Parts: sequence; structure tokens; C-alpha cells
Amino acid sequence: MSTSLGQAGGATSLGTAMPAACDGPLRWARFVPATEAEGPGVRAAIWVQGCAVRCPGCFNPQLWAARGGSLDDPTTLADRWVADALAAGAEGVTLLGGEPFDQAAAMAAVAEAFRAAGLTVMAFSGYTHERLVEWAAERPDIARLLAATDLLCDGPYLRDLPDTTRPWIGSRNQEIRALTPVYAERVREIAASGGADSLEVRIARDGTVAVNGWATDAALAALLDDLGVRGDRLASRRVREDLS
Ligand code: SF4
Repeated sequence: MSTSLGQAGGATSLGTAMPAACDGPLRWARFVPATEAEGPGVRAAIWVQGCAVRCPGCFNPQLWAARGGSLDDPTTLADRWVADALAAGAEGVTLLGGEPFDQAAAMAAVAEAFRAAGLTVMAFSGYTHERLVEWAAERPDIARLLAATDLLCDGPYLRDLPDTTRPWIGSRNQEIRALTPVYAERVREIAASGGADSLEVRIARDGTVAVNGWATDAALAALLDDLGVRGDRLASRRVREDLS
């Protein structure tokens, strides 16, 4: 099943080229076992490294390059991440980046491991659901990752179409879709009443700041100014995809 909502179209060539299939290790940038800013409830979150979509205005351009980050066996990672997520009380995991579907085989293995542990899977993609379904007909890796996804936020980020009424996503062309019944009611609620974004700021003992969730550049800059946080100590931000 697919319950979806979307508020605007948007002609763009972004995300229209099928990503190359890639097997092997997962290139990833960051993992947190529990956050409340990257989807419904308390969730683990995985930021992959690499995105071929490259939306102008993306807030995580440092995650575009298909190099850097860490390169690890996805099954080994999944075992560790699932255990950490369960220990942290997460109800599921959110895949973002970067572009999870650019590493569909590795991400499918990770998503399936979370599902096998009874946890839900949410994914962001700069590719539209329509294209992913079309590509899945010839790409088992994309089909597997779609099949293991309960909640999908899809479509490229278009900075000229900012969305201020729905949670998690950045632009009005993007859609929030329940691909299984798990979050269908939540998607219907958002369709009816919208929802607010949340922002989570974590300050480590060494002064490093990590931000999860979504805010405009201006709002984030004002918040960090209020906190006295220097921009060069901002360790990571979420891609609005992301937003993927
Ligand atoms: S917004 Fe998402 S899909 Fe677009 S360039 Fe950034 S990471 Fe890639």
C-alpha cells in the first residue's frame, strides 16, 4: 500500500538518472542510536556518504562525495546498529544522507536487519517514489530497499519551493508516503493538519555540536548564536532530504 501526500509539483531534472548498482561495503558518515528529530518517535538514524542527486541548496553537501566517511561491511554494521538502537529504546531507524538508494544493496541489508528485529524503517530519497518503483523492476537492490521501507520521504529538495507546514521534509514537491500500514495514520494526520519540524542540538564535552532535524538557515544561525556556538565547530547537520 502507499498513502502519500504532496503539495506541489516541480519540473526538475534532479534525481532523474538511475543510480549505478553497487555491491560491497557501505560508505557511511554518521550513526546515532536515538533521536526524536528524524521521523516519528524515537529513532536511530544513519547518514550515508555519497549523493548523486546534488540538489542546489542541500544543507549537507559534505555528504555528496562518494569518498570519505567510513567503509564497512553492512551486515556487521547492522548487527551493531540494531543492538545499539534496541538498547536506546528506538522504535525504528531512519536512513538519510547522502542518498540511501545510491547504495541500495548495502542499505537493504541494513534495513532488513532492523525489520527482522521488529523495528520500523524510514528512508529519505532525492529520487521520486515513481522513479524508484520504475527502476525496481530491473534493479533487485532498489526493490529490496523499497520493500524494507515503511515510511518514505521522496523527491529532490527544491529550494524555490520551501515547505513550512509539514515535518521532516524541505520542499513542497516532496512527498511523505506510508509504504506499509505502520505509519499510515500518521501520514493521514499530516495530510489533514500538517506538523512541526523539530531540531535537536547535541553539545559534546569537547564542544563539538551536532544538529539533528530541520530548521531554516536563519533559524539555525540564530540558535547557534544564542548558544555561543561557532560555525566552525558544527560537526554535522541533517540534509533536508534529505532529504535523503
Ligand atoms: S537534499 Fe538529499 S538528495 Fe538532495 S543533494 Fe542533499 S542529500 Fe542529496
